[in-house]
Amino acid sequence: MDIIKKVMSANDKFIKNNNPIPFDKLPKWHVAIVTCMDTRLVNFLEPAMGISRGDVKMIKTAGNVVSGGLNDVIKSLMVCVYELGVKEILVVGHCHCGMEKTTSSSLSEKMKIAHITPAFIKKIIPLLKNWADNFQQPQQNVIDSVNNIKNSPYLPGNIIVHGFIIDPDTGKLELLTNNNQG
Ligand SMILES: [Zn+2]
Repeated sequence: MDIIKKVMSANDKFIKNNNPIPFDKLPKWHVAIVTCMDTRLVNFLEPAMGISRGDVKMIKTAGNVVSGGLNDVIKSLMVCVYELGVKEILVVGHCHCGMEKTTSSSLSEKMKIAHITPAFIKKIIPLLKNWADNFQQPQQNVIDSVNNIKNSPYLPGNIIVHGFIIDPDTGKLELLTNNNQG
């Protein structure tokens, strides 16, 4: 089915049944979550963590990777912290993440097939390595992302960041790093 027709038709039905209630854009929990774009987590991570509409800010990336430097996740977290009253950040990785199998070589092979020029691929290989090849294992990646947020010069030094792993099948959540315990 054509995706535009699909979403427009769903939207027609939705707005007929939706009773618009004004919602505050500020997150009630004062929390931002950085998690993976994995399809299994859509409409699953929220109920598994007791999150409702209006409770948190949700930022999603491939493999919930947060690198150092001024990247788009850090920029979004800056908006969360400085503009939207976020006091705590939760990084939520998950088991069986697609980023475990995504590498600079798998990406560059597929980019070649998609007619990206070899010269361009060669140029960006260091960036791909630095990102995709650094993701070895979801647990370690959560720890790295938590540390990159905590050490970011763009965010307050005392920002509270916790790390979790969720099972994308059972929804079982495991606390990996607890900032309340130093
Ligand atoms: Zn993932």
